[in-house]
Amino acid sequence: MNQRDRLRIAVQRSGRLSEPCFELLDRCGLSFRRSRDGLFCFGEGEPVDLLLVRDDDIPGLIRQGACDLGIVGRNVVAEGEAGEPARAAPTLQILRDLGFGRCRLSIAMPQASAYGGVAALQGLRIATSYPSLLRTWLDEHAVNAEVVTLSGSVEIAPRLGTADAICDLVQSGATLVANQLREVEVVLESSAVLIGPSVLPSDDRRGAIELLLKRIDGVSRVRGSRLLLLQAAREAVEGIVRALPGSPHPMVLQMDGQPGQVMLQALCADELGWRQLEAIQRAGARELFVLPVERALA
Ligand code: ATP
Ligand code: ZN
Repeated sequence: MNQRDRLRIAVQRSGRLSEPCFELLDRCGLSFRRSRDGLFCFGEGEPVDLLLVRDDDIPGLIRQGACDLGIVGRNVVAEGEAGEPARAAPTLQILRDLGFGRCRLSIAMPQASAYGGVAALQGLRIATSYPSLLRTWLDEHAVNAEVVTLSGSVEIAPRLGTADAICDLVQSGATLVANQLREVEVVLESSAVLIGPSVLPSDDRRGAIELLLKRIDGVSRVRGSRLLLLQAAREAVEGIVRALPGSPHPMVLQMDGQPGQVMLQALCADELGWRQLEAIQRAGARELFVLPVERALA
């Protein structure tokens, strides 16, 4: 029944994770043709298809075997696990942290209320869409509070008088400020993760999984990095290397027919701004080029 020769990955149909998911898959060399109803994407090159769904449905689809892998926030996986009784082996595994969709599940209180530590939460009503994670955190911190489960618009609960505090996802904190709330505790740090069943399929899909993981690693390894190319006199190399951000190990090549002149190539972990480039130039570099790095294969 679950024997398939094509890999099926569940991704969020429309939401914060959708665009970065497609961008990642595109960088991994996967291209798709979308079905008319917009629920399915057929892989054009590799044997990999996508199912476009609500993020909350992704862990269940993998557990049922309807999909092989999924991309979802760590918060969604953790809420599912926190809600499970501590029983047999976990049914899902996190295969890779994908680095995007960063946010945190935090407890926030009205700005006006005093907060001197977890004891201040004692006896409060806390609204959240993550009741299991919140309950676990409260128990771990010996706080006796009431968990009010809401499916959305959690941030307005204190103003409506239905809760005294909230526990919700925060990225920049702007939504909290707009609702006169302030973050007081972080319950969970989250980012998008690639998940799969704890036992991966061993049939034809296995090859596609391995290929995908290898390509994701190739993309992740160089995410945000830049390749810097420049020319300089050999004596200037030491000073130039000191001016490079991070501590890359540059490759220095002798330039043909120009004794004492070298070409330097360095993979820098971060963006190179104008000021950094100008400092590198002052150290003796000429003909500087900064190139984006898309993928790497060792
Ligand atoms: P769906 O319709 O698929 O159920 P949703 O409303 O649950 O969508 P989004 O708001 O698109 O989901 O968020 C998807 C994921 O993006 C979250 O589960 C979380 O991991 C991540 N995320 C990053 N920043 C934030 C943020 N500020 N607020 C909410 N989610 C965030
Ligand atoms: Zn959702």
